[in-house]
Amino acid sequence: MYKKGEGVPDFVLLNQITENAFIENLITRHKSDQIYTYIGDVVISSNPFKKMNIYNESDIKSYNGRYKYEMPPHIYALANDAYRSMRQNQEKQCVIISGESGAGKTEASKKIMQFLAYVSNKATLEGDKITKMLLESNPLLEAFGNAKTLRNDNSSRFGKYMEMQFSPSGVPTGGKITNYLLEKSRVVGRASGERSFHIFYQMLKGLSQAKLTELGLTSAAQTYQYLKSSNCVDVATIDDVADFKAVVRAMETLGLKENEQSSIWRILGAILHIGNITFEELPEQKVGQVSVGIKDPKALAAAANCLKVEPTQLTRALTYRSINTGVGRRMSVIAVPLDNVQAIFSRDALAKALYERLFQWLVTRINHEINANEKGLVIGILDIYGFEVFDRNSFEQLNINYCNEKLQQLFIELTLKSEQEEYIREGIEWKNIDYFNNKPICELIEKKPMGLISLLDESCLIAKSTDQTFLGQITNTFDKNQHFQSYQSTKDRSIGENCFRLKHYAGDVTYDVSGFLDKNKDTLFVDLINSMQLSADPLIRSIFPSPKPEDSKRRPETAGSQFRTAINALITTLLACSPHYVRCIKSNDNKQAGVIDEERVRHQVRYLGLLENVRVRRAGFANRQTYERFSQRYKMTCKQTWPTFRGSPKQAVEAIIAAHGIAKDEFRLGKTKIFIRNPTTLFYFEEKREEEL
Ligand code: ADP
Ligand code: MG
Repeated sequence: MYKKGEGVPDFVLLNQITENAFIENLITRHKSDQIYTYIGDVVISSNPFKKMNIYNESDIKSYNGRYKYEMPPHIYALANDAYRSMRQNQEKQCVIISGESGAGKTEASKKIMQFLAYVSNKATLEGDKITKMLLESNPLLEAFGNAKTLRNDNSSRFGKYMEMQFSPSGVPTGGKITNYLLEKSRVVGRASGERSFHIFYQMLKGLSQAKLTELGLTSAAQTYQYLKSSNCVDVATIDDVADFKAVVRAMETLGLKENEQSSIWRILGAILHIGNITFEELPEQKVGQVSVGIKDPKALAAAANCLKVEPTQLTRALTYRSINTGVGRRMSVIAVPLDNVQAIFSRDALAKALYERLFQWLVTRINHEINANEKGLVIGILDIYGFEVFDRNSFEQLNINYCNEKLQQLFIELTLKSEQEEYIREGIEWKNIDYFNNKPICELIEKKPMGLISLLDESCLIAKSTDQTFLGQITNTFDKNQHFQSYQSTKDRSIGENCFRLKHYAGDVTYDVSGFLDKNKDTLFVDLINSMQLSADPLIRSIFPSPKPEDSKRRPETAGSQFRTAINALITTLLACSPHYVRCIKSNDNKQAGVIDEERVRHQVRYLGLLENVRVRRAGFANRQTYERFSQRYKMTCKQTWPTFRGSPKQAVEAIIAAHGIAKDEFRLGKTKIFIRNPTTLFYFEEKREEEL
């Protein structure tokens, strides 16, 4: 099954389970172009940063319907297992893909979808159509949700859980996409050398001249402040023109109508024009009252044209803010002029809101087209942003890293903790293996009422709070917590006065609190919403619904709480599925082919807890089934149990095992289940069963 010099295909087969042996095996395999290795059912993938000749139609065919041990490790084998388990057990499946930014998660998710789309039984024309739509949702959402970052030329800036829905016999019937926290701040700015979302550059290069003229756009991205500011427009590895064509094709496949497409371009064009709006201070009308006007009426007029609103309305919404004064019958609304800083804030808030709401609309629109039966069988694929550490980390990174903590915890729960607990529960002899449990850090962040997110919410409610008072408060609260440090509590200069540091499972991250309160509140002044309500474009009106009267009494949910709720719902969804894991390893930081950086790999192997995973796996059992299930499935392979058997399910299992002479060390009988050490034993029973049927 495997050749010399290519390492072992499953880390469980290593002679010695040490970190060095693990890493050596990974490096050996990477160098011989074996990018996949198993730990039992978990697929470890190391990013090759080059095109691999292993994803052809012939490869899909050769993995289709085969058992894992028959073929070299491959992501297709995992996809095949998920599909088989779904049909055989009539159970929902999920694939959880984790790893840091640029490690290969999104590529892995696409390979899995490609495999499932190809092999699933497309008995109907509808099944075929649905598969096409599911596949086409990828380029579309990537155009709007991915961007070139310093780490990855196609970095996902949103989290995605894609469910492929199937009929009981495995025919694709639909799909559903759930998206998580788009990094909308990227629309107005980002680190130098990075880009905004792909779609802006694609559109400027790809739209016809007539269309550009209609939107008042030029094809030069440099014209637009929002694109120009990070000094990166063209990327060698990206063909924006070709990608634009793919996007338009995807829109057509997914049934986006002409007028919808045209609204999309209009919104994107408006965002670019909005970024070019600047303000200037007007002469004071009342003493001490500063107000601003629009400096460049051309940009404003172009934005208004794209948004189909009156320029005067847009001007008013960008430079004034209505506030309620008085109570009861005395209540009235007055318009307060904004100063320059406030006007810029409100301008950027409008651009971000337009983009975020457009993205959400797009996901909803795709779901409207593809979502069929949420209750039926599904294979869900989770491709969510990986753990991030930048020079400067903000609210976005806190959310992203919190999400990764939660997924790591899920992995621990499902593969290490629950596995060990089950052995004990079933009375199987077992020596516990230690692992690093990250539960305390999850709690530090999400616990109610004294976790980071709750404390941030509390600060957002108090008018006098600032980012700094928030920092002071968390420093007091987490004073004794070993996962938390701040400059005030440690006087450690490496932390920075405006920062706090969290000890994440994947390493230490220092967060700068500047902007935390604003980002969490995520306010969009009601004046802006009202002005969008006046648009002559139905799509724009629909993404800015007017606040309902009852909403004004309730506090709007903050960005942080919303995210916490969404992540916990995701965990609940995943827990209802049989999980499959892909752990992606970033081989080096320079996106280089043929290079594997030992230290970087060592770090990832450590924090992902892969060695503990091998140990538990090796000491444990590959498969377990209740006595009922096992005896039902294999009763026909044994004379005593077929066609009838009078004893208990456990006695039936004992009879079957004895009849086949299964070696003693190969299985254990627990209180309610049989545990089988090697998958080969199970394959043996499957074959015997086939022979009898
Ligand atoms: P992530 O989603 O984890 O941030 P991606 O899946 O976008 O990372 O991968 C980053 C880049 O690495 C891809 O654009 C591609 O160039 C390369 N890459 C990842 N996986 C593979 C693979 N299996 N084969 C070839 N190249 C890959
Ligand atoms: Mg990605």
